[in-house]
Amino acid sequence: MICATVKQGVDCFFMGKNGCQFNGGSCHAIIEKCTGCQKAKQFSSGTYCLMFPEPSVKWRSGTCNMATHIVKAPAKETPKVNPLKASKRASR
Ligand code: SF4
Repeated sequence: MICATVKQGVDCFFMGKNGCQFNGGSCHAIIEKCTGCQKAKQFSSGTYCLMFPEPSVKWRSGTCNMATHIVKAPAKETPKVNPLKASKRASR
């Protein structure tokens, strides 16, 4: 249903006939760590995330997995080692 509280005009899962069903009755504004993310959108009531109703929860246990402004460092490739061959090599 279309949001009629803080993110007006946005189709939202939590919006119902009786209003917003999310904890607290509306979405929570973005936090400082969200600054620069393309999912954050300015509304007349403030800046809110288009993906999550409570952005602080997404940052509680690390980096938000949907953040567009965080560039992940490529994982270093470690050479694959066959444990059997490594064991034989070590015994020599
Ligand atoms: S997607 Fe993550 S980082 Fe971006 S605004 Fe939403 S909660 Fe913040």
